[in-house]
Amino acid sequence: SISAPSHEEIIYRSKLPDIAIPDHLPAHVYCFEKLPAVAHKPCIIHGPTGRVYTYAEVELTARRVAAGLHRSGVRRGDVIMLLLPNSPEFAFAFLGASYRGAATTTANPFYTPAEIHKQARAAGARLVVTQAAYVDKIRELEGVTIVCTDEGAAPEGCMPFSELAAADEGEAPEVEFAPDDVVALPFSSGTTGLPKGVMVTHRGLVTSVAQQLGGENPNLWFREDDVLLCSLPMFHIYSLNAVLMCGLRAGATIVVMPKFEVVAMMELVQRYRVTVAPFVPPIVLALVKSPAVDRYDLSSIRIIMYGAAPIGKELEDALRAKIPGAKIGQGYGMTEVGVLSMCLGFAKEPFETKLGSCGTVVRNSELKVVDPGTGASLPRNHPGEICIRGAQIMKGYLNDPEATAKTVDKDGWLHTGDIGYVDDDEEIFIVDRLKELIKYKGFQVAPAELEALLVTHPNITDAAVVPMKDEAAGEVPVAFAVRRSDGSTAITEDEIKRYISQQVVFYKRLHRVFFVESIPKAPSGKILRKGLKEKLAAGFAD
Ligand code: ATP
Ligand code: MG
Repeated sequence: SISAPSHEEIIYRSKLPDIAIPDHLPAHVYCFEKLPAVAHKPCIIHGPTGRVYTYAEVELTARRVAAGLHRSGVRRGDVIMLLLPNSPEFAFAFLGASYRGAATTTANPFYTPAEIHKQARAAGARLVVTQAAYVDKIRELEGVTIVCTDEGAAPEGCMPFSELAAADEGEAPEVEFAPDDVVALPFSSGTTGLPKGVMVTHRGLVTSVAQQLGGENPNLWFREDDVLLCSLPMFHIYSLNAVLMCGLRAGATIVVMPKFEVVAMMELVQRYRVTVAPFVPPIVLALVKSPAVDRYDLSSIRIIMYGAAPIGKELEDALRAKIPGAKIGQGYGMTEVGVLSMCLGFAKEPFETKLGSCGTVVRNSELKVVDPGTGASLPRNHPGEICIRGAQIMKGYLNDPEATAKTVDKDGWLHTGDIGYVDDDEEIFIVDRLKELIKYKGFQVAPAELEALLVTHPNITDAAVVPMKDEAAGEVPVAFAVRRSDGSTAITEDEIKRYISQQVVFYKRLHRVFFVESIPKAPSGKILRKGLKEKLAAGFAD
């Protein structure tokens, strides 16, 4: 590899050629473009009930919801909030808001009232779509219409979703669109700080979907006869973008699962002959470690894609052994960008790809790797901060120009905060987040690497690694581990420390191992190290 002078930027691109992207279209128009051809095909299947909604029904319902929103006073540029588990109504409401020219902010229904209020107020939500079970969390929100998706009578003071969706679709006014209008306002996971409201525009979303599915040789080849599993929460960008929007655009069938549970998931895969399984590391872990996995026929799966957090090669191997017929690869996404990179093994004319890579930068986009200290652009195989530029990136953080300016520089490069490198075949490898790296004297230790090793041990079901303050070294890596609980001799702290030290250089050795019942994780699949670090700071170690 060549070393360039620091003023010269080394830019990485896809192996696929750029394409023309109709980024002047509103997101709903773009995702329903195939409509006449797929009108009578199943679009959404509700997993628990088996109820099927065709493409024609979904599109019509979305237009009726748009009319209903209009009747409820929602106007272009307004924001509605979805406080919903995965459900057909989630899709109807999101698409309906898009038709109305409104934006949707999505939140986890398990959030506390305080968290929900904060987001609803920050986003300026005028209407919240939720289920009866969560209504009490939002009763106190003033000036907000509450819509309930449950069948039958809605709780007092709430409008039933059926009423919203019963409006005459002709009532919705023609809406003017600017490609720069916000369509989605998801909040980032909050792994590194407080969650941030991310303004995703029609152009950004259309571009992101086109970067994955567009062109003669799509990077991610979804077909009309594909059946996509939707078990990841739609309130997170991964599922919203790569499952819902990509699934619709492809004319595929989307099987919606409200709540993840590994056996129920395998049942759905078997029943509906699921062909595309989007996962996150905790699902892969649950699947690989589930004793029930051999009882189900999972052979219909042709693509397993995962992302959201680093995963070890060993776990990827174990997954391959369980579902040998599937092509396995990663996508790398973030709320602010949608999808940055995607496995080229999923292309229509696939490329050879390597284990552990999180794909190649999507087409119509530029990627560079910079030294976090100097900002200098780095050559191949040198880890640094990953930066991306393209029409898919966010318009900015909601009401936070300062945070926006810190993330997107004046040249349009979005700084991801992730450390990784690009290899000789354009494949991207993520080491870990800049903020998560443990600094042992001058050495850097990536928690993700040690976690990957820990979960390969048969007597450890899950693990997380965090820094602990240390006088001599500054920080040392320590682990939280969940022991296997089936009566086999419980593994000890010393055994785990030895297991790791046999495999790593001295500064990556674990200094302590703490046993816990479970590892806290965000619904987006990320380990919540913050809470574990707080535990340590509060004297958990003593
Ligand atoms: P916050 O920015 O609020 O702290 P967050 O970054 O966790 O939260 P998301 O937008 O949900 O919020 O997550 C994006 C991050 O997920 C990326 O920056 C990256 O760290 C991680 N990630 C996504 N895909 C992968 C992958 N394939 N491998 C490793 N990490 C990944
Ligand atoms: Mg982030």
